[in-house]
Amino acid sequence: MVLGYGRSVVRRKRTHARDLRARHAHRIARTRLHRAPRRSTLLAVRVEGPHVAPAGPLDQDGLVDPEWLDVAGFLENIARCRHEFPDLTILAGVEFGQPHLSESEVTSIVDLRSLDRVNGSLHTLAMGASPRAEPGTLFREQSPVDVMWAYLTEAVAMANSSAYFDVFTHLDYAVRLWPVGDAGPFDPRRFEEGFRAAMAAIASSGRALEMNTRRLWPWMPQWWVEEGGRWVTFGSDAHTPEALAANFPEAVAMLEHFDFRPGSRPEEFWSR
Ligand SMILES: [Zn+2]
Repeated sequence: MVLGYGRSVVRRKRTHARDLRARHAHRIARTRLHRAPRRSTLLAVRVEGPHVAPAGPLDQDGLVDPEWLDVAGFLENIARCRHEFPDLTILAGVEFGQPHLSESEVTSIVDLRSLDRVNGSLHTLAMGASPRAEPGTLFREQSPVDVMWAYLTEAVAMANSSAYFDVFTHLDYAVRLWPVGDAGPFDPRRFEEGFRAAMAAIASSGRALEMNTRRLWPWMPQWWVEEGGRWVTFGSDAHTPEALAANFPEAVAMLEHFDFRPGSRPEEFWSR
């Protein structure tokens, strides 16, 4: 998915997204729009180590075995978009899943330092004897409370690792999948210590925390600030053009309340 503010731009660029998806079967093209209303776009794809990507067909063991990213094709598409839309600032980035576990595999196919943005994410956990699985799966098999603590414990390990990523993205990933029907409404205070530990580790690593605007949680920036966090980014986690930059005005209001301010260019992290 790609974006522009004008409808024609969106439509034209959807074609590129289709090209991209065709070339990179099993991959999700993702975008991040950094701060309205100025025109700045980040085109990104998700890269993960073998057997851990949450999207794509399952192999016979019920595990995902995605194809590797066609890096040259991805960069070619970016170059084409830059050429066709010179008024847009187009950045290239990746969402790097489980960077603390698969850095050498990923760096063998893409030079992360050549990209404009590397978001690190935690999609899977190893619990018990099972192979790594999504929290959504684990919530059905294990105690939801234990799954949430395992997620936060691994988030600390990921933040403490030296793996190359600039931003810890969607720290609320497991929260989104919380089994409300079985476990009741999610109460972040029950896991406050774990979230704070993860945020403190991310802050002391010098990385930014993404405010994922799919869901806005005021406790997220509050605890981030209290744990020493200085930088934030915005991500709508959009999987369709219509969802791009969703809730950005609300996110801006929330972050300004905590004294975060934009940098001089739209693609810069917000800081306080
Ligand atoms: Zn993700």
